[in-house]
Amino acid sequence: MKESADLLIYNIKEIVTPFDSKLKRSRDLKELKIIETGGIAIKDGRVICVSSTDEVLDRFESQNKLDLKNENILLPGFIDPHTHILFGGSREDEFLLKIKGESYLSIQKKGGGIYKTQKDTTSLSEGELIRITKNKILTANSYGILSLEIKSGYGLYIEKEIELLKIIKKLKNEIKSNIVSTFLLHLVPKDIDKKIFLNEVKTVLPKLKNEYLIDFIDIFVEDGAFTKEDAIEILEETQKLGIFVSLHIDQFNNLGALSLALKYNIKSLSHLDLTTDSELEKLKEKDIIGIIFPLERFIFKREENRGRKLIDSGIPLSISTDFNPGTSPSLNFPLIISLSLIREGLTIEEAINCSTINSAYALNLQNEVGSIEVGKRGDFVIFSLKSFKEIPYYFGMNFVKYVIINGEVIKVDW
Ligand SMILES: [Zn+2]
Repeated sequence: MKESADLLIYNIKEIVTPFDSKLKRSRDLKELKIIETGGIAIKDGRVICVSSTDEVLDRFESQNKLDLKNENILLPGFIDPHTHILFGGSREDEFLLKIKGESYLSIQKKGGGIYKTQKDTTSLSEGELIRITKNKILTANSYGILSLEIKSGYGLYIEKEIELLKIIKKLKNEIKSNIVSTFLLHLVPKDIDKKIFLNEVKTVLPKLKNEYLIDFIDIFVEDGAFTKEDAIEILEETQKLGIFVSLHIDQFNNLGALSLALKYNIKSLSHLDLTTDSELEKLKEKDIIGIIFPLERFIFKREENRGRKLIDSGIPLSISTDFNPGTSPSLNFPLIISLSLIREGLTIEEAINCSTINSAYALNLQNEVGSIEVGKRGDFVIFSLKSFKEIPYYFGMNFVKYVIINGEVIKVDW
């Protein structure tokens, strides 16, 4: 008598997954598990078997079958641990200036940058913001991103930020993808004293936590935004409340914020573009995930092989889109994988571990997603490719054919 399953996927040319559920650094990043002519059985949205096609068809039966005829490869869904996907408008004019060398801070001083997006975002109705953000998440899905973090940050005023966090909570309920909600302290509103603003944030944090409006808090530690001392004020509170923290550090200026990661309970550090070698040394052996953005680093012509350096420094690395209207306006995850090889010096095996299991850790989702194992969510991306090595090779192209979210098959139409 065969066991019943809700979905069987079989004749998978390659199942490609991180070796196990552990956080990966150094040599472990080079390892993947590959099952040829593989099969997977899913029940109640969870993986109940991952093995050969023969074993899966011998042991299980289902009304619902997907025969991939040995023409497709399957990976865990990509996890994007850093996005600013909730915004209105776009900033293509600034983009054209920036690629010619005008600085981010100079554009911001002229009322552009985050302030422009703040206006474009807060002028939209809640319904309109939800509609356009859902469309962007569907685009992310079509590139294989099945779990993602969404930051607030374009409301600036506390009450506007809370409105954005409420929208993220609604999206969590209405969208199939796993969503992690982050309250981002992006900039101090122009007409508010910073001290008053920080006090407002500290006062509202318990409410945000109790109402399940935030999973994480993030602070943009940067010239013109928040100093290391400002961050300490907030981190003292998050520490008491047990809120997870990720930080934007060392993107345009190094303000010495890395030392915060050693004192407070911080899950991830994003950017690390200007972090010094001696600072990186201090992160060695720590379970703090470093997140870098190969596309953004490409657009802004940053030095090459930074990813390599971070891996060689012993940091568990993750790669992400940093999708936002100012510095990284793309959700093309296979392209980001290509760039992580070409410009950041990663191998394809490293890039896959950095896009799946390590990103799951950055979002505290490691027990749910990030590798294909019994008990985890049935979240997969299926490519019309014959080997995972073709993902970076077909530069800028997208061969995603299906995504499977929580055991549900969704065909990607191009
Ligand atoms: Zn960011």
